Formats: sequence, C-alpha cells, structure tokens
Amino acid sequence: MIAKVIVDVPLMQTDKPYSYEIPSEFEDMVEAGMRVHVPFGIGNRLIQGIVTEVSKEVDTPEELKSIVEVLDYTPVLNQEQFWLADQLRKSVFSYKITLLKSMLPSLLNSSYDKILYPQSSLDPSIQTKLFGSKQEVAFSSLDVADQAQVMRLVRRGDLLLEYQAKDQKQIKTEKWYRVDQEKLKELQPSARAKKRLVLKEKLQLETQEKPLADLYKEFSKPVVAYFVEQGALKVSEREVNRAAQYFEGKKQSQALILNQEQARAVEAVVSQIGKTSTPFLLEGVTGSGKTEVYLQIIQEVLKKGKTAIMLVPEISLTPQMTNRFISRFGQEVAILHSGLSNGEKYDQWRKVERGEAKVVVGARSAIFAPLKNLGAIIIDEEHEASYKQDSNPRYHAREVAVLRAQYNQAVLLLGSATPSLESRARATKGVYQLLRLTKRANPSANIPKVKVVDFRDYIGQNEAGNYTPILVEAIADRLQKKEQVVLMLNRRGYSSFVMCRECGTVDTCPNCDISLTLHMDTKAMNCHYCGYSKAIPRHCPNCQSRSIRYYGTGTQKAYDELQEIFPEAKILRMDVDTTRKKGSHAAILEAFGNGEADILLGTQMIAKGLDFPNVTLVGVLNADTSLNLPDYRSSERTFQLLTQVAGRAGRADKEGEVIIQSYNPNHYAIQFAKEQDYEGFFAYEMKIRRQLGYTPYYFTVGLTLSHKNEEVVVKKAHQVMEILRSGLSDQIQLLGPTPKPIARTHNLYHYQIIVKYRFEEGITQVLNQVLDFTQEKENKDLRVSIDNEPQSFM
Ligand code: ADP
Ligand code: ZN
Ligand code: ZN
Repeated sequence: MIAKVIVDVPLMQTDKPYSYEIPSEFEDMVEAGMRVHVPFGIGNRLIQGIVTEVSKEVDTPEELKSIVEVLDYTPVLNQEQFWLADQLRKSVFSYKITLLKSMLPSLLNSSYDKILYPQSSLDPSIQTKLFGSKQEVAFSSLDVADQAQVMRLVRRGDLLLEYQAKDQKQIKTEKWYRVDQEKLKELQPSARAKKRLVLKEKLQLETQEKPLADLYKEFSKPVVAYFVEQGALKVSEREVNRAAQYFEGKKQSQALILNQEQARAVEAVVSQIGKTSTPFLLEGVTGSGKTEVYLQIIQEVLKKGKTAIMLVPEISLTPQMTNRFISRFGQEVAILHSGLSNGEKYDQWRKVERGEAKVVVGARSAIFAPLKNLGAIIIDEEHEASYKQDSNPRYHAREVAVLRAQYNQAVLLLGSATPSLESRARATKGVYQLLRLTKRANPSANIPKVKVVDFRDYIGQNEAGNYTPILVEAIADRLQKKEQVVLMLNRRGYSSFVMCRECGTVDTCPNCDISLTLHMDTKAMNCHYCGYSKAIPRHCPNCQSRSIRYYGTGTQKAYDELQEIFPEAKILRMDVDTTRKKGSHAAILEAFGNGEADILLGTQMIAKGLDFPNVTLVGVLNADTSLNLPDYRSSERTFQLLTQVAGRAGRADKEGEVIIQSYNPNHYAIQFAKEQDYEGFFAYEMKIRRQLGYTPYYFTVGLTLSHKNEEVVVKKAHQVMEILRSGLSDQIQLLGPTPKPIARTHNLYHYQIIVKYRFEEGITQVLNQVLDFTQEKENKDLRVSIDNEPQSFM
C-alpha cells in the first residue's frame, strides 16, 4: 500500500505529494487526513507530513521509503478541508501544507504527548503488558513495535487516547470543595460561633462540587478552615476550564419579537438554507438588532438539524457577546478564541468534531471548524481587517466562508453597520443580496446626535489639552446625572514619543525605522515592532541637549488630564497597556457594565460591540490621526471607526450624544460619520476609488521582500518585477519596488511591489512562479510575502 504525503519542509516547499510505503502493520489504519512522520531528503531526516491519498498502485519504479510513525489514530482533516485547500490555493499564495496546518487546532501543530488510558473492555494481559500497575501511559514511552497494536486498540475502543499539551504552563488550576454530609452532621459548632452555624446550614443543602472561592466571598478563611480540618469539606485541585466558565449560571434567553425589517431579513436568509444561494449582506445601523437576526437564523438552522458558524472579531469575543449565544443555545455552543489555552482550544475543537457542538462562535480561524452539515455561516462586523490573516497563509475568512457555504449549500450572511466597500459594491452588482435595517431595534432608542468640534478654535488656549470646553461641559453634565461616558482616543499608527527641542531628533529603534514609544507606567521606551526596550533618555542621543520633551497623547496622559479636571470621577482606562493580561479586557468591560465607573477611556478597542444602556455620551478626542496614513483605506477606516463608536451612545431609552473633536472637521469621512450616513459615504468614496484606480475597481496584490542587506533586497525585487512583467499583459500596473512606509524592522529592509489589474488571466500562475522563486536555494535568506488584496499598506 502506498500513501501520498505532502511534507512540511521549510525552504523546499512544494504542493507535490511524495509516495511512501505503508508498513504492513499499519496497512489497514492509514487514511487520508492523518499526520505521519516520514524520512525525507538525503539525510533521511524525520519530518511531518499529511496523508492526502492511500492507494494500491505504485507510480515510481524505484524503491519507496516507509512511513515511520502514524501520529493520529483517526483523520484530523476531512475531505471538505482538502477541497478547501485546493480552492484557496488559487488566491492564497502559500503552499498547501501551510493552508492545511492552519485548519488544525494549534495544539496539533505544537508539542504534545498522547496519553493512553485502559478501558474496561481491554484484555487484562494486554493491560498488564502495556500499563503494569499504572493508570495511564504516554504513547511516546511505548516500543515502536507496540504502537501499531495500540492504535488498533484505540480504534476498537479498548483504549482511550488523549492529546495533552506539553506546555503545562498554560494550565491554570483552582481549588474546589465537596461536602461530606455525614461528617457535616456530626459537627456541632457552639452557639456563639455564629458564622460557623451559618456555613453549616448553607452546606447542608449542597450536593455539587463548587469552587472554594465561592465560600470566601461570604466567609473568612478561619471559618472555612474549621470545616476542612474537621473533614466536612473535601478540597481538591481542578484544572480551570476557561471555556466552561462561560457556560455557568447562564439564564436561557427567549427569542424577541422581531420588527418588520428584522423579520424580513430572517425570512430571506432562512428560506435559502440547504440551497445554493448568493451570500447576503446585512447593512444595519448600530443598535438595529443584527445580533437578534443572527440568533434567529441559527435557531432555524438548528431546527433543520444543521449546524452554524458565527464569526466575530477577536476583540468582540467578550462575555457580553458570547453570553448572548450561550443564553440562547446553551451547551450546543463551542467558543473558540485566543484567551483559551491550546489544550482548551483542542477540547472545543474535539467537541465540534464529535458533533457535540452545533454552533461555533469564534474569531477568524473558527471558519475552519470541522462542523458537519453546515446550514449557516454568519460574519459579524464583516468590514473588520482582522478577518484577513496578516501572516502566512494570508487568507480572508470571508473568502473561506464563500467556499464552505458553496460546498455545504449553507447560507452566508455578512453583517455590519459599515460594510467594507468591496462587499457593498458586490451587493450593488448582485453578487451579494442586500438586506437593510435602517432603524434602531429598541423603539425608544434613536440614532444619537453627533456634534463635530473644531479643535483649531481652541489652539493656544490649552495647548497640550485633550479636551475642548464643549466636551468637558458635556462630561460634567453626565456625571451630575449619573449617566456614563465613553471616550475614545484614536491611536492608530500614532503614539507617544520623545523629541529633542534643540535639534528635533526623535528617538528611534536601532533595529527598525520607527520611533520608540514612551511608556510612563514602566518608565521605558519600547519598539512596538521588535520589542526592543530601553530606559527613557535624559540627553538627546544626537546633540546631548537636556531639553527633551515628551510628545503625543497617550491614553495615560489623557487619563491623568481627565482625572485632574474631574477628581471625583471614577475612570477606567482601556488600551494595550491595561489589557495585556488575558481576560483583563473583559474584566474592564464588565466593571463598566456594572456601573463601577463613570467614564471608560480607551483606544479603538472600545468602539466595538458594546451595548451599555446607561452610556449617553461618547466623545472622540482626536478623529484625525487615522486619516492621514499612507493607505488608501484610511478614510474608510476612519469613517467606520467613528460610526461604530458613535453607535455606543443612547442604545436604550435615554437620548445619546456624540462629540467628535477634529482638526479637519470638514473632511468627508468625518462629515458622513456625523450624519451616520453609510450610503452617502459609500457613493462618495467609490468615486474616489474609481478616479485613483483602487479596490473595488481594481484588484491589488502587495508583494513585500525583506532582507538584512538593502542592496540584496533591491536586486531581488527587480528580479521579481522581471518575473511579473514577463508573465503578465501590458495592461498590468506594477508600482515599485519602493521601501515600505516603515522601511526597516527587526534589522530587515522591506521593499514593496504593488500589482494592480482589472482582468489578468495569468496572474495566479505568475504569482505562484514568484512563490517558487522564494524556495530557490540562493534565496533562502530572503523573505517574501505575497498578499492578495492587502488590508493595509503600512
Ligand atoms: P446591533 O448588533 O445591530 O448593533 P444589537 O443586536 O446589539 O444591535 O441590538 C441592540 C439592542 O436592541 C439590544 O439591546 C437588543 O436586545 C435590542 N433588540 C434587538 N432586537 C429587538 C427587538 N426585535 N425588539 C426589542 N429589542 C430588540
Ligand atoms: Zn524595533
Ligand atoms: Zn538634540
């Protein structure tokens, strides 16, 4: 028997599978979709590969090498995923093995061991041979000769096999208690030990294991310790399952009665489940109840016995968002996000694979979740750039979704208050079907009034200030009414830095052409690209002058200033510094939602998905910083951001107000955001894109070449230009090679080539030629990325 295997060899990648002999003891076990170890190359180094096919014929006359180890006892990739990789290969310029690996839970791509447990059906003599007196053994500790037999036993169900992450650091444990009712009855606390009596009474009613921390909320350590010492409480250590936490104590939520627009949208989508249909674009103003539409579509999908994927941007995977799905669908939901450890992610993935979870709620990579019988794929905030992976393989989740919908005859729904220009343009052409929600779902909530304040009117009054008197007055008003305020500092591509007042030198990273960011909390200067860090300088590195000044409006500075203006106000700050720890993002939002603070001040992180009824004022401190970036999407991004953040105000009965401070109050992106006029912005921006020849009128591909030697990278860039030019028509537009806006990072020089075209038959083939060029021996130090439809040009 022969297995076709695509192998994972860095720097010699190819999509061509190699043939390997299947050793006779594995003959009936190896299937397509399993991972194997095979010898490769002259040194017969063992490398990982994926079996794509098993067959009888031999297509090479020479003797074949044999598979050395089979890593899975059942396939980890299915036929749909192989099909997806083939399809994606036409638009994603990474090798197939890279695509397939990205579909697996990361545990299976990192180091782990396989642990075996005997099951009751296991033959006792085999149990003794394999386990001795142990309860479990690691697969890796077995003789190679035993491994095939073990796999057979796993398949028969005589052994249980689990993958276990080797990196145990990520596993968190906590103490749980169980009540021993017999012992508890025997306890007779004295009448004066009131707390002990209260606890005894409480414990008498408990039958389930609970976290010990729950008791500490009400009782002091000595009180609890008394029960533990007397044996009435049994304490054990348990692995914290962060995914499980989401499910505890959730009340079931009922479907709301839809308004007309919502009902029409649900109906249109539901009628197409199980048919081949065009994708839907749901354009709904902020607060229009898109989430309720998603929930009811999924409900219909489940009724038909099918499954669904719900994608949301990583940053919106807060408890607030996930709760809405768990409250409606309970344990049928699997949650996939970056806050889970590799082991937990693997558990969720298995829950999906075994068919126990029917609804997957997750960020970008959840689009690959191995759900069978898919009925719907929904992508919320479809305009978000984070749906495109910005490392290899550079796939867009929307593109994968289109393919999976087609394969499964599932419906695809893209939702946003501010759809990407690409998607909205497709809806105009009928490639997507447009559905609109034009009103807020809560009948007493209105779209908030937006005021744009011209910052220039206040120049000279308080130069360093972040707050105009108009904004200060509005904040004071809300504080007095006990309503809440959200303030956003727009920091995209912008941060605090240090500049010499004598010679103007800005302190930059020695490895990257980028200014170092000032962090007052750690008293350090950091490079956000390579992680370089140093102390805040006292002298100018250029002229030695001592007159160094701190520039920029970091959130810390905006926070300090605000606290000074409103000493009584409770302010929460949310930015990269305060959310570095896992879970802190969600914790800040929860605190704000519980009314523990008056003001939430943060970066664009706060713009998404928050639904807090008591927020009646939203302020944008500086609308402009994202406008002037060297990127043709900067207006679109600014418009989206302002519209989204404005949508956080007045979501319930109380009237909302939005104040935007800007140096360019007449810029069209700001003006359309002020009117919350998506359609107006779309029409205007499309004209500009047409004039300048950008997406969606043209297709673009961005190629980036990086090398530590600038001369080499320029030379190679010209070779790539040559490959492109000779393979493409004379209609093609090739821009560059030019240094990237950030020309050097990590001690590598980056050059960029942009390819623009409308129709170009040979484009896929030529870009694959460039990909193969990168695998040539003399290019092994050169890094090339081929980014089809780049989301950013920075
Ligand atoms: P979006 O996702 O479009 O911004 P949400 O789904 O967050 O909007 O809905 C905004 C608010 O309106 C939520 O509090 C939601 O519970 C409420 N809502 C949604 N649909 C309805 C409805 N049909 N009737 C009453 N309230 C609704
Ligand atoms: Zn750096
Ligand atoms: Zn100087």
